[in-house]
Amino acid sequence: MKKTAEVVIIGGGCMGASVAFHLARRGVTDTVIVERESMLGAGSTGRNAGGVRHQFSSESNVRLSIESIGMMERFYEETGFEIDFHQDGYLFLLSDEENFSQFQRNVEMQRRLGVAVDVLAPEEARRLAPGLEVEGVRGATFCARDGIADPNGVTLGFAKAAQARGMEIYRETEVTGIRVESGRVLAVETTHGAISTPIIVNAAGPYARRIGEMAGLDIPVAPIRRHIFITESMIDGAGLSVPANRIMVIDFETTFYFHREGAGILFGMSDAEERPGFDMTVQWEFLEKVNQVALRRLPRLADAGIAHAWAGLYEVTPDANPIIGPAREVEGFFMINGFSGHGFQHSPAAGRLLADVIVDGAARDFDLSPFTFERFTGAKPEGEMNVV
Ligand SMILES: Cc1cc2nc3c(=O)[nH]c(=O)nc-3n(C[C@H](O)[C@H](O)[C@H](O)COP(=O)(O)OP(=O)(O)OC[C@H]3O[C@@H](n4cnc5c(N)ncnc54)[C@H](O)[C@@H]3O)c2cc1C
Repeated sequence: MKKTAEVVIIGGGCMGASVAFHLARRGVTDTVIVERESMLGAGSTGRNAGGVRHQFSSESNVRLSIESIGMMERFYEETGFEIDFHQDGYLFLLSDEENFSQFQRNVEMQRRLGVAVDVLAPEEARRLAPGLEVEGVRGATFCARDGIADPNGVTLGFAKAAQARGMEIYRETEVTGIRVESGRVLAVETTHGAISTPIIVNAAGPYARRIGEMAGLDIPVAPIRRHIFITESMIDGAGLSVPANRIMVIDFETTFYFHREGAGILFGMSDAEERPGFDMTVQWEFLEKVNQVALRRLPRLADAGIAHAWAGLYEVTPDANPIIGPAREVEGFFMINGFSGHGFQHSPAAGRLLADVIVDGAARDFDLSPFTFERFTGAKPEGEMNVV
């Protein structure tokens, strides 16, 4: 293991890999990723639903999406890796009048930024996703360039491209401490020795707060468990009894969502009773709650058995927006944390922005003020409303 590095990145998920890639592009190649697990992408990145969308309520998040989706569309050319990107669209169903009005205002903002989003009547929404029931739905929004991609492909693509330029990866190596002296980062302590460095990137996902504590910082990121269920094959005698494409359907008020996965359906929902914690055990009794909503929107799910389920951790901030940038109290400590359920899709742009901040002291062509660490010290920022 190296004894010194220009930059040490803690965490080998999509964020750590993206930062390494973009630093390498900027010519910073004396970098390492330190990852506790035996492979990259074993944390939240390997447990997510792969959803990628432009449809956010805040301009900053739409801008992150525009840049990230552009990079995903060019991913193979830029890294040589396939990411199985299917742009079959995201369909948001709105049953509450106020939410539908808010979404229509969001669509105006999204269009102003150049994103093509349609407002649909319930019947039009139903035709887009065969099998869907739209009882009680007032309207819907649809963006055809939203979609589903492979999180492991993105992570490995970024990591391998950075490695080819000199970045090193230490797996099965846990960060146990951070040395700070006179307000500056000095070194990272790991289970395999210390690495002296002037720059640390906290890319530890749901463990971001613990890494912050090692440097005397309180980073407001809470780990919240989320479940994903996958059905057995839903091909019957008449063919596939679910949407043939991979459109992502989200019932906004209940947060129930689904998309086709192979011959079955992948689905999930948030649980308002979930408390912060690191437990990722599947709570099978939660499936009952999901089913109460799911069977109303997609009745054919009643005929399908569950083939597979898992749980992972969202990394949630108080305003559901990420933290991208430095901690002013500890020179050399940078964060790319707290993406609150939409981190995979924003990892390409977020990594580019943090690499800019590290190299130039500021992000090129992007106002990072909604994502600063300092924003939590004042009045509660408005944040992101479209959290699923
Ligand atoms: C069920 C679920 C569904 C989701 N669906 C979507 C979706 O559809 N679209 C979307 O965009 N996002 C989605 N997300 C969110 C997305 O997965 C995360 O925002 C994203 O993966 C965060 O990436 P990360 O690299 O910051 O974290 P992680 O992938 O968790 O990576 C952090 C890494 O740090 C390592 N680490 C932690 N502590 C240490 C230490 N002390 N020493 C060394 N290594 C350490 C961990 O082992 C881990 O590999 C979903 C999340 C979940 C749980």
